Amino acid sequence: MITFDIITIFPNFFKSFLNESIIKRAQGKKLIRIRVFDLRDWAKDKHRTVDDKPFGGGRGMVLKLEPIYRALLNLKAQNAKLTKTILFSPRGKKFSQKMAHRYSKLQRVVLICGRYEGVDERVARHLVDEQLSIGDYVLMGGEVPAMTVIESVSRLIPGVLGHSELLEERMPKQKGRSSRAFTEYPQYTRPEIFVPKSGVKWPVPKILLQGHHQKIKTWREKRRKTIL
Ligand code: SAH
Repeated sequence: MITFDIITIFPNFFKSFLNESIIKRAQGKKLIRIRVFDLRDWAKDKHRTVDDKPFGGGRGMVLKLEPIYRALLNLKAQNAKLTKTILFSPRGKKFSQKMAHRYSKLQRVVLICGRYEGVDERVARHLVDEQLSIGDYVLMGGEVPAMTVIESVSRLIPGVLGHSELLEERMPKQKGRSSRAFTEYPQYTRPEIFVPKSGVKWPVPKILLQGHHQKIKTWREKRRKTIL
């Protein structure tokens, strides 16, 4: 079982994420475990302060080093076997399917969600294994990136996706190509023809309706996108 430990100042963000659909079922089947920790639990003052003004001036607030340090110490996350500690940052390494595969082999992934103007740089320098960005845009916090990583990693764990969700045929079987590659091609379902208000019909490509498997395969092959 893989454990995802999330450190956040907004634990409620994860309530529905944890309790819906595949992620819920995967926890029930003990294939994954997700624990959400409130960073404020590791603050020391009565106001449970986790942020402070940036040295050198500038706008906004920065997440402090000490609560994160204490959190990781408490979770025994550092130098633990098969554990990776990740800090989300728009300046981090770009997250990819390849990394999702690597993480799916771990026992534990600790995800630190930044907020405000970011996180004291000493966290990145001394406390984490990797800084991850989920793309070249700036979000408000690391909570959505944490969900992104958890979803993409979890679906790679055997048993998490059911038969109806896992399309075996998407795994290219040809020699020389990694069996980890996923192929995405256009999908259609009923109705065969949809007529919008304009009256100009939106039909499903005929080839998909004729039951000629080789032709369908070729058609999909031409339009697929492979995600490595
Ligand atoms: N002024 C900051 C913005 C921080 S955004 C800067 O430009 O660096 C606040 C937090 O959101 C970050 O600390 C990070 O944890 C998270 N975040 C924002 N965009 C992200 C992205 N593309 N990928 C991963 N995390 C991101």
